[in-house]
Amino acid sequence: MAGLSISFHRTKAEKSLNLNEFNAGDYAEAVAAKNLAEQITMVLYPNDASENGKELRLRQQYFLASASLQDVIEQYLEHIDTDFSSFAEKNCFQLNDTHPTLAIAELMRLLLDEHKLPWDDAWRITQKTMAYTNHTLLPEALERWPLRLFGELLPRLLDIIYEINARFLALISQRWPGDTERQRRMSLIEEGPEPMVRMAYLGIVGSFSVNGVAALHSRLLVEDLFKDFYELWPEKFNNKTNGVTPRRWLSHCNPTLAQHITQAIGSGWKKDLGELARLKEYAGDKAFADEWHQIKYDNKVRLAQLVEDSTQTIFNPDSLFDVQVKRIHEYKRQLLNIMHVIHLYDRISRGDVDGLEPRRVLIGGKAAPGYFLAKRIIKLINNVAAVVNSDPAVSHLLQVVFLPNYCVSAMEIITPGTDLSEQISTAGKEASGTGNMKFMMNGALTIGTYDGANIEILEAVGADNFFLFGLKVEDIPAHRFRYSPNNIIEADADLSRVMQLLECGHFSLFEPSLFDPIVQTIRNPNDPWMVAADFRSYVDEQQRAISCYQDKASWVRKSILNTAASGRFSSDRTIAEYAKDIWTL
Ligand SMILES: *Cc1c(COP(=O)(O)O)cnc(C)c1O
Repeated sequence: MAGLSISFHRTKAEKSLNLNEFNAGDYAEAVAAKNLAEQITMVLYPNDASENGKELRLRQQYFLASASLQDVIEQYLEHIDTDFSSFAEKNCFQLNDTHPTLAIAELMRLLLDEHKLPWDDAWRITQKTMAYTNHTLLPEALERWPLRLFGELLPRLLDIIYEINARFLALISQRWPGDTERQRRMSLIEEGPEPMVRMAYLGIVGSFSVNGVAALHSRLLVEDLFKDFYELWPEKFNNKTNGVTPRRWLSHCNPTLAQHITQAIGSGWKKDLGELARLKEYAGDKAFADEWHQIKYDNKVRLAQLVEDSTQTIFNPDSLFDVQVKRIHEYKRQLLNIMHVIHLYDRISRGDVDGLEPRRVLIGGKAAPGYFLAKRIIKLINNVAAVVNSDPAVSHLLQVVFLPNYCVSAMEIITPGTDLSEQISTAGKEASGTGNMKFMMNGALTIGTYDGANIEILEAVGADNFFLFGLKVEDIPAHRFRYSPNNIIEADADLSRVMQLLECGHFSLFEPSLFDPIVQTIRNPNDPWMVAADFRSYVDEQQRAISCYQDKASWVRKSILNTAASGRFSSDRTIAEYAKDIWTL
């Protein structure tokens, strides 16, 4: 998920904050208030997947959108043209998520009020200038502003949105006469006790292009979330699968591997990542593969040093490095990962070690300040780590750490040193993912669900070189309908023992009910993330992964094939597609 880049300035709190009383929005506002809120963008919101009806955030969005538009208009009038007749041809704003969609109403205001254009001209220019990228299917992350707040802060923009909406709904009633239910569904204003402005719908109505960020995500947008709009304007909708830059995520972060690749196939891959496909010829070359393995080993030593420095836990590089680093969120299912760790701990404790190999599990990521369950999952990971790592009967086969302060600089060390990349979101919830691409590019194998860009990674590298598990998005509605986690737990001896360890306080001896909220979500028939549903196939696929790892030569071959197939996931390819299809550069 992406959007406004987030930076979070810590300040000395004058008195301690009661976290229970805070959600992320209150936290940011409280910190800003302490600094007298003199700088509107001093504190940006750290939450990446939930909307907050918070005035400070709306002020920030308006400030940034309006400043950008006014700057572009000034430059345009000074250097390009004296009127707006070629504005749409010369400019395109790619709205990165719903956060800047206010720009649609603000450009209308500037054209109408400041530059005195008639409505129809202003609207034609706006619609031809704006393009919207959607980054999530989670409904709670689609921004909606309370109408009352919006009207108090931005009365003129609300007038303009009402006018856009009136004209839009007239179009809908022309196309589907009498279908008032459809008008209600598609309206830019959501009715109810607290009426809301739907920013994603403003993004669709006010732009000429709407895209998702991976093939599955873009398909689900037109089949589910934006189905009504797709029926009206099918030509607006398109896909742009995300990518990552090979300069940072291969050349810079993994110079030894980059050099090894260049020695084999030349340096053309740095500007055309598709050339990595030529590495396939080297996958069976013993000398090339041995050197590949040695480079991965050295990178694991470097990662182990980072782990030791920040957690005082010593990771032996002669083990599988199993890594999940990303924002902590229930849909990303760090919980499923730690349940697998508990399962392995239970197996090893019982002496059931046949087919196991030494494994080191690293989990890292930040949680939004007010996200209670995310914080509690971090606590669980830390407590499981304390038990597992201090048990000498277990720790040679299994260690686990929670890495604090996960950030891009940490990722630059983590990516090259990873063997197995965990991409285990509930199917249909991860729009794309980009961590999955960084890992693949650096020769990690993926264990993942059929979700987001994982699907395209699987297609590129082939099923033999990817560990696929879990329900598919098509399977989920039927399963949800009759979902009974308690029955699944009862029927699965391994899962029963994991739940037993969680419920008897084995990982919280002095606070026996600490993990009750986690147990409750797993056992809840309405668990949106369906953790219990995928436990069995996850554990089985993890076993297949560790068995594969036993055959070192075969693993190294798969590692090379993953890098070789990662060419599609360069951001150069993504940007070229935006430039050609949307910006028409
Ligand atoms: C790549 C990256 C992400 C995105 O990771 P996902 O697994 O796609 O969620 C988040 N944070 C940092 C620091 C990253 O480098």
